[in-house]
Amino acid sequence: MQNKTVCYRNVDWLVRWNGEAGAHEYVRGGDFAYDGDSIVHVGPGYAGEVAEERAGAGLMIMPGLINLHTHSATMPVLKGIREDMANPSLYMSALYDGWNLFPTPVERKRWNTAYAYGEMLRSGCTTVLDMCYPFPDWLEVADESGIRCYFGGLFQSANWSTTNGHSLDYIWADDGGTAAMAQSMQLIADARAHGSALLDGAVTPMAVDTCTAELIAEAERESQALGAPFQLHVGESMIEFLEMTRRTGLSQMQWLDANDLLLEGMLIGHGIFLDHHSWLHWGTRDDLDILVDIKAVVTHCPVVFSRYGITLESFGLYNDAGVTMTIGTDVFPHNMIEEMRSAAVCGRIADQHMHAVPTTSVFEAATSEAAKALGRDDLGRLAEGAKADFVVVDCKVPEMQPLYDPLRSLIHTAADRAVRDVYVGGIERVRDGVVLSLDMPRIASEVNATQEALTPDASSRHWAKKPLDDIAPRTLPVAET
Ligand SMILES: [Zn+2]
Repeated sequence: MQNKTVCYRNVDWLVRWNGEAGAHEYVRGGDFAYDGDSIVHVGPGYAGEVAEERAGAGLMIMPGLINLHTHSATMPVLKGIREDMANPSLYMSALYDGWNLFPTPVERKRWNTAYAYGEMLRSGCTTVLDMCYPFPDWLEVADESGIRCYFGGLFQSANWSTTNGHSLDYIWADDGGTAAMAQSMQLIADARAHGSALLDGAVTPMAVDTCTAELIAEAERESQALGAPFQLHVGESMIEFLEMTRRTGLSQMQWLDANDLLLEGMLIGHGIFLDHHSWLHWGTRDDLDILVDIKAVVTHCPVVFSRYGITLESFGLYNDAGVTMTIGTDVFPHNMIEEMRSAAVCGRIADQHMHAVPTTSVFEAATSEAAKALGRDDLGRLAEGAKADFVVVDCKVPEMQPLYDPLRSLIHTAADRAVRDVYVGGIERVRDGVVLSLDMPRIASEVNATQEALTPDASSRHWAKKPLDDIAPRTLPVAET
């Protein structure tokens, strides 16, 4: 068989997985080799036969980042609308006013998703757990992009609605959400039957306040039968906490416990408004212990929440308690490097302590800890036998220098400006900062066209029919000309 091994020689900085220590480490001046979709060598002096040699001078090679929480099909069109938008009568959240203002028609969702995947790849993300209502072409878009994708088809028993802007109604489906769940299970089957090793599925009922106990229980049974990750939004908003305590007298985690719905290793989306959060002034302190007991994974999406003035209390507290901390992009931008930076900064502010969240912790959250959450010891690390999902960082760009510590330079300063090439399963998907697999200028113009088409009647979808100029005023007034 023809040798296909590609070897980067004398790479200035390799981020290698030290299996014994169970941690990443820097290797200076080592070789990095991969063959097909797998890594064959990370370290000094690769002696095997090589089909192609590449110079490693001036480079850092690190594992591809893993984004465990995103909603690609719906969020990109909200750029420019949601960043300053808040409802003062719903604890400053724009979730309930905003979620349906710009509903992308199903036939145009593919552009949003392609846009999101392109943005992820461009910023060094190689694996995503994407949660959307299933739509035609989703598998094809992911396959075309070349990103490693876990498809989480969303389903729920109830939809949110507000008719007065200060209270939330739940519109319950007659079937409790079972038909929508069946579609999501079919999506997992389709992903697994697709033939691409990069596509898989996850079981993702929407949220603790929008699903019946029966639906969550059924979803958990499916997840275990399929050996697929299980995700639930919990602790996303003040309103959700207040609704669950009003409905049941229990916090969300306590309610899951009381209904025998705690699943070991479950992914908790956000996990912010749990019983200890300072805004709640709630009398119990059980929820964090529950997370630890069930080895829960919390996926922190700091950028969007920090725009609301909200943060987790706190990344450091959860991490030190033993919760598996991971990171997602949730809305936009789909940039895991910016999320890592915000996770570190917000975590330090929350704890008023600079050592609460070292840069090492957020890098682990976006790589090895996320891989652990997916049950994958072949992702999120550069090690022999792991998948060749890697990022080539150009240490010569001015933003990376001075270069005492390249991960700090990347995460705190340079971000995607230093991401040169990105590989998923040994296939190059970004070269010199350009996404090869997707026509990003075309895709961006299509997403823009969707937003433009939805803008004139956005007001009709607002509970008070407010003009968009009032819901989301532009940063500057547009002058009469
Ligand atoms: Zn979400």
